[in-house]
This record gives sequence, C-alpha cells and structure tokens, in this order.
Amino acid sequence: MSGWLTQGPKVAAFEKAFAERHQVKHALAVTSCTTGLHLALAGLGIGPGDEVIVPAFTWVATANVVLYCNATPVFVDVDPKTYNLDIAQIASKVTEKTKAVIAVHLFGRCVDIDALRAALPARVKIVEDAACAAGSDWKGRPAGSLGDVGVFSFHPRKSVTTGEGGMVTTNDPALAEVMDQMRNHGASISEEQRHRGPRPYLLPDFNLLGYNYRMTDLQGAVGLVQLSKLDKFIDERARWADFYHDALRDIPWLRTPNSDNSCRHGWQAYVTYVDAKTAPRPRNDIMQYLMDAGIATRPGTHAVHMLGYYRDRFNLKPEDFPGAQDCNDNTMAIPLHNRMTEEDYHYVVQALKAVA
Ligand SMILES: *Cc1c(COP(=O)(O)O)cnc(C)c1O
Repeated sequence: MSGWLTQGPKVAAFEKAFAERHQVKHALAVTSCTTGLHLALAGLGIGPGDEVIVPAFTWVATANVVLYCNATPVFVDVDPKTYNLDIAQIASKVTEKTKAVIAVHLFGRCVDIDALRAALPARVKIVEDAACAAGSDWKGRPAGSLGDVGVFSFHPRKSVTTGEGGMVTTNDPALAEVMDQMRNHGASISEEQRHRGPRPYLLPDFNLLGYNYRMTDLQGAVGLVQLSKLDKFIDERARWADFYHDALRDIPWLRTPNSDNSCRHGWQAYVTYVDAKTAPRPRNDIMQYLMDAGIATRPGTHAVHMLGYYRDRFNLKPEDFPGAQDCNDNTMAIPLHNRMTEEDYHYVVQALKAVA
C-alpha cells in the first residue's frame, strides 16, 4: 500500500499509461467526464459572453458544462447517419463570440476531425467529448489527441470504468498546468509534490479559482487494470459489431450503425436506427417487445434541445434540430458488451427478426 487515498502515485501511473495509449503529452484524471469538460472550458478561459457550439444530440452534460461557465451553448444539428455533428452546418453558427466547439465522438465513432477543423476559424478551440471514445481513432490518430483538449468518461456505461471518473488530455503544456491547478482547488502544487518536496509544512499558493475534481488513488488503481484491457475489449466488441452488421442486414426497417473506414470505432454502444416508415411497429413498442423477451435496449441518447430545462430556458422546439429529433425518436441501442455470450448475440438477432 502506498498510503495514498486520494490523487497520488496510482493516479499518476494511470495518467501516464493513458497519455501513452492516446498519444498525448498530458493526461489529468478527474472525477467524471462532466467535471473534466467543465475543467477544460474553464482552463480555456471560457466565460460570460462566450459561445460554445455543441451537438443537439448528445448526453445532456455536453451542454450543461457550457452553462456552468456562464457561457452560451449554441446547438448544431447532427447527421442521423453518423449521429455526430453535421459539419456542413457548423460554419453558419460561428460568430465572433464562438470560443470553442465540443466535438462529441458519439458511441465511440470519431467526428471527422479534419473536416471540422477546416470548417472553423483557427482561433476556435476544439474540445473533444470523448466520453465514449477511449481507444477510438481517426485515421490512426487516437481520440483525445485530435482537438485542443479531450475528455473521457469512466462511468460504468463506458468501455473502461473506475465506477465514476474521467480523464482530460492535451498536448498544450500551459493548458495542462492551469487545469492541473484548477482540479485541485487552484493550489499551485499538488499534495503529493508538497509532501515529497523540501518544505512540506508550507501551504501552496492559490492564484486561480479552483475546484475539487481529483480522482482517488483507489480509482487510479482500478483504471490502470481496466486500461490494460482496453484494446482487447474493443477488438471483441468490433467482432460482435461485425456479426450484427451481417446478421441484421436483411431486416429492412433496421439500419445498423455506420462505421467509416477512417475511424476505429470504439463501440461503446451499438446504436441502430428504426425506420419509422417501414418498421412493423413504433420504436418504443419494439423496445417493449424486446424487454418482454429479456433483452434490454435504450434510445441511443437524447436530443438536448427537447429536454425540459433547455426547451424552456431557450424556447426551443423539437423541429429546430430535425436530425437530433429524428435520432432522439428512432435510435435504439441493442446489447453489446464484454460479458455477453455467443448465444446471447444470436438470441438478440432472432428476437429482432421475429418483430412483426
Ligand atoms: C457519458 C457521457 C458524458 C458524461 O460522462 P460522466 O463521466 O458520467 O460525467 C458526457 N458526454 C457524453 C457524450 C457521454 O456519453
């Protein structure tokens, strides 16, 4: 035992391994992807009067963190084929106030980062919401290394988990330094540095508004072991994703997720699309039917502009972002995870084929 309970040597080892795996210079462990995204925006100096572009179809936290900074989230619609930002619509949303875009690699499929960068003025920062994208890549470049700063989640729904937890990645040393202090109450040096330094009895300086977003060393130890299995997990999921692609091909009303050759898909979730025009029943009835057969499904995620808080605060209508509305109403994640047996996968396929 190291004797450390909160951020200490296990967290440091986890950060080092995570940075190496994702080919970045700096990785900072935090308490969740949500706090990591907040830290990233705060570290970039985003505040009142600033605008941050976010996709309308994503987990609510992607937009919430913009509000934590008292900045304005500007929604952009998604492409229902990729479930990611529709890059063709980005340029029309950029104003002088735009400080950043949060590029979500939804379900582990990377945003076309080259097209996104090309659509933005150089001054606009790209924050990757890589919550679902540990181990994913775009043209061989890992998620988390594609933008100015990347943020991962280790929630149990993601590919690798520490119970709760997150990781912030960047190649920018100045940004890493600011975020390192901000995650630890704004302290100029960490407890570990202080305890190992020459005068451990002196408290550090606090020159920034900080937070307590430190990961515990217990979680760091779990994260290290989980990370060592990441590529095995993804390869196995990719194998079963291929199985689903083939096995579900002749169900005319069900579209399987699009995987681009430029992207190594992390398969955090296998999200299908139920074509309302040809499906024998509405999506929710299909989900009920599958639940009765013992198969758990979920909508892919939600359209944030249709959630009560956003709808009321910003006076939004479902049809404002038709792609997000469509994904909200018609996506269906079917089971894909590392504890499923071959029989389980065949059973899911059979049940889907039997929907009438
Ligand atoms: C899960 C998720 C989050 C939130 O992650 P937490 O670690 O639970 O805070 C944010 N964005 C996306 C796209 C997610 O899927």
